[in-house]
Amino acid sequence: MRRYLGIDIGGTFIKFVYKKGDDIEKGKVYIREIISKNRPDLIVDEIRKIVKKYRPDILGVAVAGLIDKKTGVLTASPNIKPLENFPFKDELENSLKIPVYIENDASLAAYGEYLYGAGKGSEILICLTLGTGLGGGAVINGKLLTGVSGSAMEIGHTTIEMDGLPCHCGRKGCLESYVSSYGLERIYYLYTDQKISSSQIITLANEGDLTAMRSMERFSEYLSVGLMNIVHIFNPDRIVLAGGITENYPAVVDMAVSNLKNIAFHLPFRDLTVKRAELKEFSGAYGALGYAENESR
Ligand code: BGC
Ligand code: ZN
Repeated sequence: MRRYLGIDIGGTFIKFVYKKGDDIEKGKVYIREIISKNRPDLIVDEIRKIVKKYRPDILGVAVAGLIDKKTGVLTASPNIKPLENFPFKDELENSLKIPVYIENDASLAAYGEYLYGAGKGSEILICLTLGTGLGGGAVINGKLLTGVSGSAMEIGHTTIEMDGLPCHCGRKGCLESYVSSYGLERIYYLYTDQKISSSQIITLANEGDLTAMRSMERFSEYLSVGLMNIVHIFNPDRIVLAGGITENYPAVVDMAVSNLKNIAFHLPFRDLTVKRAELKEFSGAYGALGYAENESR
């Protein structure tokens, strides 16, 4: 029986899901300090430790950024700059001696939710991951949409305001500049002149602090414009919202959907369901697992 491991490399944790038959195990490893050392090889070492423990036959990897489909190089990673230009696929295969399937984190979050979570049974599934950055993925009739070179669905870097706030990708006014943890921090700052972390803002909003709640509302307005653009382009039957922000402040989903109803030009609500992710923080790792399993068949 083949053993599979799916891992999701983010700026703070490596999350993983291991599967052998019906046995499933999940876990996460803290890597923020390692990332800040600017040494992608140390990330490979961490992955090697997980692989040593579980001994998978096939590895699936989700990583935050643009993976060149032909070379397996992470060509851009706005929120994990130290990993940029690292040839992940080659380095991992050379070091681990097992086949490695690598894809964008949000694409694999979409795939994970499609296979095992809130996207099951959908025809056109769009998934957004709201975290440090804003990621996007699409699964259409069961197939992951990757784009010709692997960079489809970079919804976070679609422009929402010309000359808007700077984005970590180096451009201006991207959806991610507003709908991400750093976007939320800026929205709160505009109201209060205070710099606090997105998790503090969410805690305050959950405690009923009016300015924090107002910031969440503004955040969800930007999100609803992003959703509107998605709906106008894809006419999906399912949208899944994943990531820490939707998990810790679920009301953001309802607020965005109700605003979406007001602003969309054509919205076949009869056919559309917007849901929160079911696999919580493991959508990407599950997707990596399922992707490795299906692609290696
Ligand atoms: C990156 C995407 C990634 C997303 C979430 C964005 O800034 O461009 O590739 O999926 O962040 O990590
Ligand atoms: Zn951007």
